[in-house]
Amino acid sequence: MTDKPSIFISYSWVQKEYADKIEHELDGFVSIVRDKNSATSWCNLIDFMKRIRDEDFAILLVSDEYLKSLNCMYEITQLVKEQNWEEKIFTTVFDNASAIYDSIGSALYIKYWDMKRDELERALSSLPLQSQTKHQGDYQKVCEILNIIGEFLKVVNEKKNPPPPNFIAEIKNYLGLQKIEDTLTHKLRCPSCSKGYVLYNKPVDEIVSLQCPKCNRFFRGNLLYGRTWMMKAPKKKPDDSDEISET
Ligand SMILES: [Zn+2]
Repeated sequence: MTDKPSIFISYSWVQKEYADKIEHELDGFVSIVRDKNSATSWCNLIDFMKRIRDEDFAILLVSDEYLKSLNCMYEITQLVKEQNWEEKIFTTVFDNASAIYDSIGSALYIKYWDMKRDELERALSSLPLQSQTKHQGDYQKVCEILNIIGEFLKVVNEKKNPPPPNFIAEIKNYLGLQKIEDTLTHKLRCPSCSKGYVLYNKPVDEIVSLQCPKCNRFFRGNLLYGRTWMMKAPKKKPDDSDEISET
């Protein structure tokens, strides 16, 4: 089988159901990387979030919650370290974040993170020095977010982002996944009479038992390679040793 592209899904938990839908629809065509199935228990979540850089593509579900989430935006700070990161993202913008399409709306998100930084700064300065470590990490992240959020919003703003209802179909189009599906359509021709055939287009490597519509004989076929085998009349116990004469 061809190498599947890998896609990291970056989303806020509020859009979890939509992320599930994407995973379900692209399953089998691409390998999906997301916290739910790729971040194993006790793994370092920061290291996991950094993986957004390593995958072929990143799906970003941009919502109001997303733009205000420390974890989601931290993933963006990692992503933008990648050269040509703009070319490896699939973005969709949810209605509640449509404000990013005008400059005042964008400015408000930048302001949001600026206020977060002030808040953290104040909280930090009131802590004893030896217990500042954890919050210092968050402070660092917020500073990094402030460094990139303007550029990030500009890139998303200038893209033609398919709305959520068309998003998955557009990704499939872009990656030519429909074509992959088509090329995997096989005519599994009956090896006994070679007149009847059965069409299969499932992109799985699987061996199935089929019945010829012309001669009614049974034969087996491999869905991935389109090969067929004859089957002996099942006199003895019907196991795999019945398969003979590959065609
Ligand atoms: Zn036949």
